[in-house]
Amino acid sequence: MTSLEQYVRFLRRMERVSAAALRRHQRRQLEKLLRHARQTVPFYRERLDPLFRPDETVDWRRWGEIPILTRQDLLDRPDDLASRAVPKAHGRVSETCTSGSTGEIVKTMRTSLVLTLWAAITTRYYDWHGIDCTRKLASIRGESLGTADYPEGRRRKGWALQDGTVVSLNVTTPIHLQAEWLARERPDYLLSFATNLGALADFIGRSPAYGPRFPLAGIMSCSEMLSDEAREACLRTFGVPVADNYSSEECGYMALQCPEHDVYHEQSEALLLELLDDDEVPAPQGALGRIVATPLYNYAMPLIRYEMRDYAVAGEACACGRTAPVLTRIAGRSRNLFRFPGGVVVQPNIKTVNFMTYLRPRQWQVIQTAPLKIEVHLVPGEDPATMDFDGMERYIRELLHADLEVEFKLVDAIPVSPGGKHEDYVCALP
Ligand SMILES: [Zn+2]
Repeated sequence: MTSLEQYVRFLRRMERVSAAALRRHQRRQLEKLLRHARQTVPFYRERLDPLFRPDETVDWRRWGEIPILTRQDLLDRPDDLASRAVPKAHGRVSETCTSGSTGEIVKTMRTSLVLTLWAAITTRYYDWHGIDCTRKLASIRGESLGTADYPEGRRRKGWALQDGTVVSLNVTTPIHLQAEWLARERPDYLLSFATNLGALADFIGRSPAYGPRFPLAGIMSCSEMLSDEAREACLRTFGVPVADNYSSEECGYMALQCPEHDVYHEQSEALLLELLDDDEVPAPQGALGRIVATPLYNYAMPLIRYEMRDYAVAGEACACGRTAPVLTRIAGRSRNLFRFPGGVVVQPNIKTVNFMTYLRPRQWQVIQTAPLKIEVHLVPGEDPATMDFDGMERYIRELLHADLEVEFKLVDAIPVSPGGKHEDYVCALP
């Protein structure tokens, strides 16, 4: 049996155990992680001291004294956060770069064990929502140029652990061309970023030429907050509800939408979620709290009490019988769409890896300032002299629009929006 199958079974076994048993599991894993972090990760050598009694047992009452880990910590001390001794059983360590919800580019590390666990949660997500992975999925997400471009996209056999077909298209394809591609591909399922899904459903709903001429069996949303408008547009146009999840590049799946009720279940087997108020004490049930996450299995770069910069509301136990804690509302990041002449709507999605290839900035933001003009604001990285503006400009033109004027501006800082959120992409058109 592969370890993926083991994890899938483990998650099935845990799904309806008592809430107390789930908490015991979390605490057991958390204690192992804390000891590992304290012993092998320089960043945590003293930071976790309040928790440990002189005899080295853990005093859980003092959990709240562990400082919140911020993205700034990841930016300032990435090497100190890496474990010096990842257990062999956790497999290969890989790195990932993300711009997250605050605009700074941070590097995180994870093990193949973590990736396998995430794959098992994907299987759970599909199981819950009755998604049949022997059928055909159309995935419209962030892809590198040349790998899933319109008009063909990319095609492969094999979906989750089944033999379904997955066809992929880059999310930066204009909405009307995505609609044309879907009408040709006629998938059974559609997976995309929430903002893109909303715009696509809206467009198809208003365009008799594009249908929908294919009956969708399900829609999955990922990567950003699903607005009520996007949810309703999908239901109206395609006649099926959207299955949503809350995840991040650093922490993986944090919550999955319940298949029976209008709430999300925390993925408590894999991580501890806390909802805190501004004084860093647990927010009362029903109140909006800051999401702080501790993934339990990342031994390559333990993130202990990591501030997500998103918000959620905790709810009461769900009537579906799944015992994982409930979030009734999640307020996370969403993206602006860009609007080009001729009614062309695009979800801009420049992969962080491309920013790193050409510019290596510390922080970035892309603003559409005119129908065919964007400004790229950059907080430069260590060596601004090595920034390849021409290369980046060519890349952006190829990705978004051939006639786009691209202006680069070096800035000291990138301001957050009035709501306190950073936006990677801003459409400043009236
Ligand atoms: Zn439920």
